[in-house]
Amino acid sequence: MVAIRDVRGILTAPAGINLVVVKVETSEPGLYGLGCATFTQRYLAVEAALMEHIRPLVIGRDSDRIEELFQLMMINGYWRNGPVLNNAISGVDMALWDLKAKRAGMPLHDLLGGRCREGAAVYRHADGRDPKEVEDNVRRFMEEGVRYVRVQCGGYGGVRHDGDRPEGAPEGAYYHPRRYTRAAVAAIEHVRNRIGDEVELLHDVHERLFPAEAVELARELEKFRLYFLEDLLAPEDLEWFANVRAVCATPMAMGELFNHPREWTPLITGRLIDFMRMHISQMGGLTPARKVAALGEIYGVRTAWHGPGDVSPVGHAMNVHLDLVCPNFGIQEFSGFSDATREVFPGCPELRRGYLYPHRSPGLGIDLDEKAAARFPCTPHVQTWSQARLPDGSLHRP
Ligand code: MG
Repeated sequence: MVAIRDVRGILTAPAGINLVVVKVETSEPGLYGLGCATFTQRYLAVEAALMEHIRPLVIGRDSDRIEELFQLMMINGYWRNGPVLNNAISGVDMALWDLKAKRAGMPLHDLLGGRCREGAAVYRHADGRDPKEVEDNVRRFMEEGVRYVRVQCGGYGGVRHDGDRPEGAPEGAYYHPRRYTRAAVAAIEHVRNRIGDEVELLHDVHERLFPAEAVELARELEKFRLYFLEDLLAPEDLEWFANVRAVCATPMAMGELFNHPREWTPLITGRLIDFMRMHISQMGGLTPARKVAALGEIYGVRTAWHGPGDVSPVGHAMNVHLDLVCPNFGIQEFSGFSDATREVFPGCPELRRGYLYPHRSPGLGIDLDEKAAARFPCTPHVQTWSQARLPDGSLHRP
């Protein structure tokens, strides 16, 4: 058997975003696997969960028994399905899949059944201070061959709102829900009218609205034929998706904040969403992701895995291998890699004319240059964008 000899968390921030990558080393010299464990806002907690709790649990065990090890890591701590532990588990789980595909001498997508498409279509993020600037940015992506673009006007929650605060209101990321929805509708309408139907448009609400406002926005956007509307509701308000379905046909994408199977299962089996877009490391890795992808296939729900800058390139590689093998793949979010990121992670997936392709070497096809990674250390900081506040100064979900 090929035993797990060691497990290490490698922290690096080549693009200024704190990433956690897990390296699982084996009893076979030079044979190792990589996995993504990035929960960027709490990266040190993930490292501690990995090194203090998961590492001693898995060392010496058979690296081939991925399902057994996933179940063991999930239930051994008794309390489960929290974001910190799930990410630590994911780092090991993905690394074990990487290892197994390397030993089989095939790219991971071949081990998973073989690809049913050659590349994964991506969506990119266009923003702007006004509708014209948004249009210009959408056109720039279209010139690069991108056919799906997320349209925002002024970032999440729209342009910062600084008026109307009560005395003594604390600092924060202030926004105004009504101004936000007006600006978002205006920008989407402008882009649709100016560019036409040659581009698929998406929009991310980022759970910034109260449920009734969210239902109203979904209905108002129906006529612009979005590819999907993302995170319209907070995970705390999932029952409201039934209200959305009752009033409009705007496609719903949900799930980047999900941790627990009880969050995604009712939405999929109830056919209340159209796209599942979990952050795969947040779910616990490839093992749970491929199961829920298959559930979605049965119920007509497509995949759109979370793919921002706070998924490590190892996580992006995992996303694209899964994209190639799932018949119910929908779209892949993608935010691009910096030169420094490519240097730290040789073998990053490549974007060409709107399609993302994995490196075809065995396993995930991506490596980590630890010397280069050490040149970009993670830095702790208190995050400000997730201190979203309504005009009266009260906190809102970010
Ligand atoms: Mg999002």
